[in-house]
Amino acid sequence: MFRFDDRIAVAVSGGKDSVSLLHVLAKIERKYPKARLVAITVDEGISGYRDEALKIAAENCKKLGIRHVTVSFKELFGYTFDQMVKRLRGKGDDKLTPCAYCGVLRRKALNMAARKARADKLATAHTLDDETQTILLNIFHGDVLRMAKEKPVTDEVHPKLVPRIKPFCEVPEKETALYAYVKGIRFQGKPCPYAGEALRNDARMILDGLEEKHPGMKFTIFKSIERIRPALEEMAKKEGLGECAECGEPTTDRICRTCQMRKQIG
Ligand code: SF4
Ligand code: ZN
Repeated sequence: MFRFDDRIAVAVSGGKDSVSLLHVLAKIERKYPKARLVAITVDEGISGYRDEALKIAAENCKKLGIRHVTVSFKELFGYTFDQMVKRLRGKGDDKLTPCAYCGVLRRKALNMAARKARADKLATAHTLDDETQTILLNIFHGDVLRMAKEKPVTDEVHPKLVPRIKPFCEVPEKETALYAYVKGIRFQGKPCPYAGEALRNDARMILDGLEEKHPGMKFTIFKSIERIRPALEEMAKKEGLGECAECGEPTTDRICRTCQMRKQIG
């Protein structure tokens, strides 16, 4: 996933997965003097939740001697996430769960921050659990071609898109938590107040139930998609990548999903 001289941006939310990833990468990086790490935290603006996570992320970076960059929804998109949800609900325009908006906006914020930091790669702490949940979610949404793009190492498809890598894609979430406990790493345990509404929770329950009864099931699902991905990629190739007519960021549509959402939020 890495080259010896990569400048790696790590997305650090402050949760157990991302702080564990930061510590693991910092440990590996010490052996590669030409590699560089920079941590990026997105402040969505979720009161009573993100403030604590930001402190924990900053604390871990300081301890490891890693530069820490914070970007906020408010400065990038004009509103905090709490304000966006309020506006959407006020308009009765909340068909999507808050996480559906947050996910799209955060992905964009991370890409912009990683690009600004001149990173060669953007590492995120998605675990085996996240990956298999996303596979199910893509099927639930009828968006199967998305699986072609959301792979553990993305291609360099556009100069404005920093390639994303997921070093923990085969690591179960329980193990990242165990790592943090064993190493005495501080992380945020409190869940996001909007998390309960997400369809992802149903996917998690299904997968955890299956794994409990049939150990190894998550890994099998992950590997199955890895095997059929080349065929999906062939199908997805027909969707070209251009630049958004409004913000200039890469997108397959004329107007990117972030700009579509911003219009909706108003
Ligand atoms: Fe955003 Fe949902 Fe994650 Fe909360 S749980 S930070 S709303 S994606
Ligand atoms: Zn746009």
